[in-house]
Amino acid sequence: MKIGVLGGGQLGRMLALEGVRLGQEFVFFDPAPDACAGQLGRHICADYDDEAALTEFAEAVDLITLDFENVPTAATDFLSAFKPVRPGSQALRMAQDRLTEKTFFSDLQIPCPLFSPASDWQQLQASCREIGYPCVIKTRRMGYDGKGQAVVHNDDELAKAWETLKDNDLIVEAFVEFKRELSIIGVRSVSGSTAFYPLTENRHKNGILITSFAPAVADDVRDEAQRYAGKILDSLEYCGVLALELFDMGGRLMANEMAPRVHNSGHWTLDGAVTSQFENHLRAVMDWPLGSTNAIGATAMMNWIGAMPDPANALSYPNARWHDYGKKPRAGRKVGHVNICADNILALQAELGKFAMALGEQLKSSGADAFLR
Ligand code: AMP
Repeated sequence: MKIGVLGGGQLGRMLALEGVRLGQEFVFFDPAPDACAGQLGRHICADYDDEAALTEFAEAVDLITLDFENVPTAATDFLSAFKPVRPGSQALRMAQDRLTEKTFFSDLQIPCPLFSPASDWQQLQASCREIGYPCVIKTRRMGYDGKGQAVVHNDDELAKAWETLKDNDLIVEAFVEFKRELSIIGVRSVSGSTAFYPLTENRHKNGILITSFAPAVADDVRDEAQRYAGKILDSLEYCGVLALELFDMGGRLMANEMAPRVHNSGHWTLDGAVTSQFENHLRAVMDWPLGSTNAIGATAMMNWIGAMPDPANALSYPNARWHDYGKKPRAGRKVGHVNICADNILALQAELGKFAMALGEQLKSSGADAFLR
């Protein structure tokens, strides 16, 4: 089958790496000339409103999926007249606007932080009064990796946040004192089979995911997480992998956001699960039977951000599996990740200690030393 992917970043690249093994071919659509998935398949380089290029893309493939949730829905609507687009425009609409997304969670009775919209200074002040300090102000659209948001504790900070964010429609959320951040990766196929990976515990630094551990220790909230993700998958008649990010309040969960695509917190599945999230996403959109989502032991995933690891260091550690995205390193850019697997969590902790010793300063400069804290 020829699979078209909207977006050609590292997620599309990893979909192709798994899909080629399954005998599939890939075509990517991405406006960036250096899209790193283009190293693995044909790359149509055009803007998402270029109907001639979208038509050429649709005609070249059997079905269409995506690695980027901010693909304009005008493009997915247009493409769906030619070929199946999975997941489709409805899921994208829900995920592209934080206000729509949080309203959707509330409608499904999935707990989430108190929220209120703000489109001007008066409404922002009123929403902050309603929610109370501290609160988090976020742009409704296009925010990712902690960009386009500010935590405010008082009126002065609010005025400063308004100066930076005022050109956007905003949402005010209550600041949540969570114990830890978790995510659940669910998958639903065209014919409605669903499966869930074990919970993943995630650590962030400056809003960017640095490390994930799976299965998360103290898996007491797994059923609750699965119930929430299941409600989302079923109510959207969703097709593919979906990630739900959650705050653990100590045995009780709140939804933060969802991503209608394969997700960074599922990268551990490449080495630590029977079937990776990438393979299961492809199985789901092709309506193949889903593969087992069981974990094999315990896995830590560390994002590599900015500078490349020196292969002499990172690769000399025999239990590290290095996944390189083929991207030019740049400050703040995810250029790869490392998975370290062990039989169980205790053995994993010992492995991580040895890995940290082997990498030393280099680990710190990557930001991945956060896993030691
Ligand atoms: P987001 O882009 O919404 O995923 O936010 C990025 C990170 O900011 C999250 O992973 C949390 O660490 C933090 N964050 C987001 N929303 C809240 C909130 N309402 N309360 C506390 N921390 C938050």
